[in-house]
Amino acid sequence: MQIRASLIDLDGTLINGQGLLPGAKELLARFDHFALVSNDSEHTPVHLANRLCGLGLSISPEHILLAGAAALESIAKERPDARVMLVGSTMLSQYGQDLGLHFVGHDPEIVLLARDRNFTYAKLAAASNAVRSGAELIVANPDVTHPGQDGDVVPETGALLAAVLACAGDVPYRVIGKPEPYLFERALNRLGIRPADAVMIGDNLLTDGVGAERLGIEYIDVNSAACANLLKAA
Ligand SMILES: [Mg+2]
Repeated sequence: MQIRASLIDLDGTLINGQGLLPGAKELLARFDHFALVSNDSEHTPVHLANRLCGLGLSISPEHILLAGAAALESIAKERPDARVMLVGSTMLSQYGQDLGLHFVGHDPEIVLLARDRNFTYAKLAAASNAVRSGAELIVANPDVTHPGQDGDVVPETGALLAAVLACAGDVPYRVIGKPEPYLFERALNRLGIRPADAVMIGDNLLTDGVGAERLGIEYIDVNSAACANLLKAA
């Protein structure tokens, strides 16, 4: 199998809460080109590049596509003058300000939901009422939880979305992260390749798999025999 480039998921594929997963370095070494495509909506590409460097993986921030940072980049490109209410981390807030975005606490034109460990009743009220008043709702990723330690779940952006929808009603919203096409398309673009020349390697059929196959990108589950064969063929 001749594959030039890969889009690779991060959590559960290369790393987990404890560190690097077995085979991660070998997997990356299998490809001439790759980009990380992750629904992370709390950190910036530079932060994750530094963290991965500390784990022994040298990856340029330009090749790390994250749902939260990509959502801000998308708004900065399409609606640079919009008043934006960000429900998200201080890291993302700083990233958005560096992109020139105008963050506001009331009367926004856009509400952006990302992973916010400091989510509060007041933030829920502000975001829900803004959306009810006509602000556009953008969601970094639709995941409700991700796996934590000892079988626990870690609440994700989709849980905050569920809270806003419970209050605001059945309003339309736009999802940036997987399985929607935006992150995949940006990664293909960064690598300068077509869908037919790429594979997506991940651990989640519903986000990595469904999203990739919708765009005509072959999907390989990191825990499958096909992935083991890929490593053996190296
Ligand atoms: Mg994953």
